[in-house]
Formats: sequence, structure tokens, C-alpha cells
Amino acid sequence: MRQPIIAGNWKMHKTVAEALAFVEAIKPELAGATAAETVICAPFTALASLAEAVKGTPIRIGAQDLFWEEQGAYTGEISPLMLKELGVSYVIVGHSERRQYFAETDETVNKKVKAALKHGLVPIVCVGETLEQREAGETFQVVEQQTRLGLAGLTAEQVAGLVIAYEPVWAIGTGRTATDADAEEVIAYIRGVVNDLFGAEAAERVRIQYGGSVKPDNIAGLLAQPNIDGALVGGASLDPVSFIALVRR
Ligand code: PGA
Repeated sequence: MRQPIIAGNWKMHKTVAEALAFVEAIKPELAGATAAETVICAPFTALASLAEAVKGTPIRIGAQDLFWEEQGAYTGEISPLMLKELGVSYVIVGHSERRQYFAETDETVNKKVKAALKHGLVPIVCVGETLEQREAGETFQVVEQQTRLGLAGLTAEQVAGLVIAYEPVWAIGTGRTATDADAEEVIAYIRGVVNDLFGAEAAERVRIQYGGSVKPDNIAGLLAQPNIDGALVGGASLDPVSFIALVRR
């Protein structure tokens, strides 16, 4: 059985003080055992304080990006070693906003995924089609290509331990969620791609989340689907009450 994983993606929101206030607000509800694994993916500046604040709880902290080198002349970048030192466990790789605004490609995603794994960080690898691609009937082709190239060169064991997030770009921040059936169909397809590339065991074990306008009132239907193992949540993860409701359905 795959444990569901609910990850908040705060994007470029929250100062350190705001991040700490959020953790204090969720701790009474989420510091004990929960059915789903709970992860907060915060801006780099809040990671050290957050990792400290969640010590002794099952809540895990994630970054939203990383660079693939360990150190060097890469002004402005953050290495996997630096994240590891802070107590970060997860890292989002290849979010559509990074693909769209920061020239992320399937090749750079692959380098980042490998670097994360090498240093014991669990990558949350994002895939998903744009509205234009969906309307052109290219959804399956796009997610297959992103999955194939993003995970290229990994072992079956590595793939089994990471997380894939299927986030249709047209559903992110728009209030327009994929239907439960549409999300399930694409996620089942991605699991099939993993099966073809890495075998049945990796496909059975890899956790695949849905992301895109997930809210407390639509998460139950999505998570009831057999192939959907959790959610990557932007907007609705910023408010502690809503985040608690997402994790403790
Ligand atoms: P959203 O963002 O929940 O605000 O749509 C999801 C994401 O971008 O990960």
C-alpha cells in the first residue's frame, strides 16, 4: 500500500515569521500520526527555521528547486548539500512555473532529480500538459515524454522511492480542477509509463500526486481514485485551517 502524500507548495509566499506562525497553528492537529504524509515546500529563506520547528513531528520540509552541482561558481543557486544540511527531506523539481518562467527543461529536470537522489533528498517530479496541448489531444504524449526524460538513467529502486506530481498547467491557480476521472486517467497512464520503463515493482511503489486547484472540498474525490496517491497543493496550502483540512480529511 502506498501512503498518500499531501505536500503544500507555498511558492513565493511567507516570510520566516509567517512560516513559523503557520507551523505553530498546524502543530496541534498534525504533530501526531496522520494517514497521509505531510510535507511543506517553502521558500529557501524559511527552510532552516521550518526544519527546526517541525523536529519531533512527522511533518517534513521540502524545497521548491535546487541546482545539480554540489558547489561552485553558480551565483544565486542552492546545492543539494546545502538543503540536506538544513534538514530538508523533499524537493520539488520541474514545476510548470519553473519550466515556463525559468527555462527548466526535461534535461535540467533530469540532472536535478539525479542530484537530489544522490544526496538523499526525495524529488517531487512535476509533469503536466498546457491547455493548448490538452486541446490538441497531446496530453498523454506530453506527460510520457516528461516522465521518460525526467527519470532517464535512474534505477527502478530510485524511481520506486520518488514522487511524481501530475499537474495540468491549466488547472494550476485557476480554480479549474481536472475531474476525478480525468486526473485518474492520466495518472494511471503515467504509472503505465513507469511500468514500461522501470518494471512492475517500481510502478506499484512510486507515489503519484495530483496537483492543480486542489481544495478541502475536492480532495476526497481525487484521493478516492486508485492511482492518485496524494496532492501537491498551492493556494489552499497557505492557510493553516485549509491545510489541516487537506491532510485530515
Ligand atoms: P494550486 O497550485 O493548488 O494553487 O493550483 C498547485 C501547484 O502549482 O503546485
